Amino acid sequence: MKFNPEKYRIPDERMKPFIDPDEIWEFINNAKSTKERVHEIIAKSLDKKRLNLEEVAVLVNTTDPELVEEILQGARTLKRKVYGNRIVLFAPLYIGNKCINNCKYCGFRASNKEAKRVTLTDEEIVKEVEALEDNGQKRLILVYGEHPEYSAEYIAHTVKLVYGVKKANGEIRRVNINAAPLDIEGFRTVKEAGIGTYQIFQETYNPEAYSWYHPSGKKKDFNWRLTSLDRAQEVGLDDVGIGALFGLYDWRFEVLALVRHTNHLETCYNVGPHTISFPRIKSASGLDLTEKYFVNDEDFVKMVAILRLAVPYTGMILTAREPVSVRRKVMQFGVSQIDGGTKLELGAYHQSKNEQQNLNHEQFEINDSRSLGEIIDDLIDNDYIPSFCTACYRLGRTGEHFMEFSVPGFIKRFCTPNAILTLTEYLVDYASPEVREKGYKLIDKTLLDLDGQRNVDEIKSRMERIKQGERDLYF
Ligand code: SAM
Ligand code: SF4
Repeated sequence: MKFNPEKYRIPDERMKPFIDPDEIWEFINNAKSTKERVHEIIAKSLDKKRLNLEEVAVLVNTTDPELVEEILQGARTLKRKVYGNRIVLFAPLYIGNKCINNCKYCGFRASNKEAKRVTLTDEEIVKEVEALEDNGQKRLILVYGEHPEYSAEYIAHTVKLVYGVKKANGEIRRVNINAAPLDIEGFRTVKEAGIGTYQIFQETYNPEAYSWYHPSGKKKDFNWRLTSLDRAQEVGLDDVGIGALFGLYDWRFEVLALVRHTNHLETCYNVGPHTISFPRIKSASGLDLTEKYFVNDEDFVKMVAILRLAVPYTGMILTAREPVSVRRKVMQFGVSQIDGGTKLELGAYHQSKNEQQNLNHEQFEINDSRSLGEIIDDLIDNDYIPSFCTACYRLGRTGEHFMEFSVPGFIKRFCTPNAILTLTEYLVDYASPEVREKGYKLIDKTLLDLDGQRNVDEIKSRMERIKQGERDLYF
């Protein structure tokens, strides 16, 4: 029987599970990687068409070094063509690490008695946000363990608190969330608080492996998590982020499953995820895991390039879990957002190490500990325009009604100009004189690339207004 890649054995229905592990393995086991097929598939993606699971399976099975290089080149071209040279910046803010679950890979798990449990007080949250604003941050993701104290109401409260903190020219304009799955009412509550993206990683899409890593607590329920972002969509929270924790199970399986999840959301809600994350497991307090599925750097780079080609419309996030060299490399192949100046210890943005008394309450170790300023300096040196843009979600350009791609010329008309304006704000308010000079040079160069666009004069005039003291100008 010929395997039909478009018909899934489990049909897509709202709030119903959709992962069939045998089916995903069937795709992987049947896909043959030949030169012709790989060329065809790359060409389809460069035409900005989504790849189906069979095509993704061909790419994950590709091991011939020449063809792998072509996959990397394809992803690089697609990223340049589609996203331009912007990189959006954000920072995580850990609110609390109490947790009822026992995820085997996580330093916050309930059984880890070495972890000191902390929930920031409202005053501490304000101090953290002020410190982040002093560095120039405009976009945060708030992170919480899973605990009765971190209810939807509490999450909504912290979101509003963060939006309310204004220091000098600083303000947080977009608050995203990474927290446990909520019920429908819970998602309604956090949506009403004005969140940006709600991010939930499935960790592993293989139910058997999932049970092993999540032996107890609420997170044990694979399907409750799998269908969580459906519940978000049910209340119109259409800005959602998916992800898998690489290193728990075969990376090829996870890549196909992420695409399957994307297909599910598109089929049921006409809108795919806003972002995909692909964290790799990092060392954490008391971590005791087999390395069988750990992903080496070479496969990691290939995996990111394949994801880029598979879902050309979806934002891709790479965090400071990865070391500088990997971040620099992987950014070329498709990443659109990175964190900068990240600190994972609770309270660390406003407290010195001494004040923290070496408390052990970080979830895992990070490998890129550069400050936001250093990262911006490095991005500019490499011709990337750092962006703090938050325009779309504030103008309601989210979800089914809007996809960066579906509107021709959108990036040039909106994204690049907004990157330029938010970078100008940063250069005026927070940058050192050297970085400021380099930044303006890069902006001049980028404006030349935009030549012919109707709004170039308007961008220049808004840059002047920012230099005169106005803030928060966007298209
Ligand atoms: N508690 C919520 C949950 O589990 O969904 C949200 C926060 S959890 C702190 C955020 C993510 O961190 C998890 O979804 C997991 O993918 C990732 N993570 C956990 N342990 C990690 C480790 N040792 N290395 C890298 N990432 C890890
Ligand atoms: Fe708790 Fe999330 Fe860590 Fe699991 S990953 S132990 S749910 S904080």
